[in-house]
Amino acid sequence: MGIIENLDQIKKQIIPPVRLVAVSKTRPLEDIFAVYNAGNKIFGENKVQEIIQKQPLLPDDIEWHFIGHLQTNKVKFIASFIQMIHSIDSLKLLSEVNKQAQKYHRTIDCLFQFHIATEETKFGLNYQEAKDILESSEFNSMTNIRVCGVMGMATFSEDKRMVRNEFKSLKAAFESLKKEFFTSEPSFKEISMGMTEDFQIAIEEGSTIVRIGTALFGERNNA
Ligand SMILES: *Cc1c(COP(=O)(O)O)cnc(C)c1O
Repeated sequence: MGIIENLDQIKKQIIPPVRLVAVSKTRPLEDIFAVYNAGNKIFGENKVQEIIQKQPLLPDDIEWHFIGHLQTNKVKFIASFIQMIHSIDSLKLLSEVNKQAQKYHRTIDCLFQFHIATEETKFGLNYQEAKDILESSEFNSMTNIRVCGVMGMATFSEDKRMVRNEFKSLKAAFESLKKEFFTSEPSFKEISMGMTEDFQIAIEEGSTIVRIGTALFGERNNA
């Protein structure tokens, strides 16, 4: 199947307000244009080097989401255009995002990445760490970021029950944070979970943003 047919298939399974981030890492511009022209304007990349090469060559009304591990010293390269950063995993990183957003007189939407998988390699916070950030005086003085929710990646596994439980744990973390810190902030509403292998389960468990690459563009050669 072609990209457009894939997009149609995926869209049938994603009912608004759930949103699709088309994960375009490693993909050529022509593939991105195909998805853009078919009406999806949200794209996700996981490498700073790659997103800054592509962004100037693509339409201005694309909403760019950063979904990979982000080093503090690289925030400055994406701060002028990034719409949402899904991978906030420290106060230091969040402070830098705030600082760089200020330079451009922008507000950058941020998600706290939680570690929900059993794999050691996946980055992310636990509940206490997220709480510590939100309770810090530094956080409370930040003016140019908006914490909109949480993000997580489930274990890459055939064990669907485990995957489902990991998504449930992310949803629970979201609900607790909402209750503890964001009751009067309607913009705290996002749960970014679900990829090619597990997005249907993620949606059943309350995902509001799915991040899909392979099911849309086909297999990646390197990533
Ligand atoms: C690559 C990537 C995705 C998309 O993965 P697919 O399995 O190709 O759908 C989603 N989220 C993150 C953080 C990624 O790095």
